[in-house]
Amino acid sequence: MFLRRALEMYEMVKRGSNGSSTVEVGGVCFGRGFVVIAGPCAVEDEMQIEAAARGVAAAGALMLRAGAYKPRTSPYSFQGLGAPGVTMIARAALRHRLPAVVEATAAEQLPLLARSVDMIQIGARNMQNFALIQEAARTGLPILLKRGPAATLDEVLCAAEYAVLEGNRNVVLCERGVRGFDRHTRNLLDLAGALRLKELTGLPVIIDPSHGTGQRSLVAPLVAAAAAAGLDGAIVEVHPEPARALSDGEQALDLADFAALMTRVREIAPTVKVASQACR
Ligand code: PEP
Ligand code: MN
Repeated sequence: MFLRRALEMYEMVKRGSNGSSTVEVGGVCFGRGFVVIAGPCAVEDEMQIEAAARGVAAAGALMLRAGAYKPRTSPYSFQGLGAPGVTMIARAALRHRLPAVVEATAAEQLPLLARSVDMIQIGARNMQNFALIQEAARTGLPILLKRGPAATLDEVLCAAEYAVLEGNRNVVLCERGVRGFDRHTRNLLDLAGALRLKELTGLPVIIDPSHGTGQRSLVAPLVAAAAAAGLDGAIVEVHPEPARALSDGEQALDLADFAALMTRVREIAPTVKVASQACR
């Protein structure tokens, strides 16, 4: 059933030069080039988000990421700044002309997000929170849908269809690793699965090597692999001072490492520039 609809989606979508449908987010075109989204795991204060946004914009990121509502495994961990954080992210994004993506963890956050940011992230833990997906889709904003930590590809497709059936076809899929059996990486980043999702739907598919590995040394090589494989982008955690990060510091790149990553990506995927323009 899901496959029938997915294939319909595949037929209906207008395809870009690399075989993807296109999804436009605040003037950035997914599906026409390699889109790098970057920023901290969580907004922590004005100075931190300003330094992060300035640094990733200067290095060539096309979008800003940051969480304000953090779905933390432990209730004792930093939970995010909430609504004031959304405003901080939105202001930094505006100052540096970067469209922003922010995760929603509950439906009541959606009105503020819809007024403030350019794309709504449905995180891995909520990939099968169908009511949240439907409400997010109804805002009309593009959706970044992350694969659940134990979701099959068919389950990802079904989740995407909940958004599409609300009349919102602006869905970008994100492979962020599934639960593996080895302790040396946080998750098992499934590059083949990401490519398969793209084949099945034609929707833009990006990777998140930060949550996918949990380790900063592995982030740049995997972004390079995704670019070389023809995927549509990556979402990368970057912190001005990773050692002081309130969440996910061990997987965050500093600004110098992120600039080096962008240089590497531009060598592999010369289409980066194309993505910086609106889809036509
Ligand atoms: C995130 O991107 O901030 C996040 C929590 O990721 P995930 O949902 O993939 O764990
Ligand atoms: Mn994180």
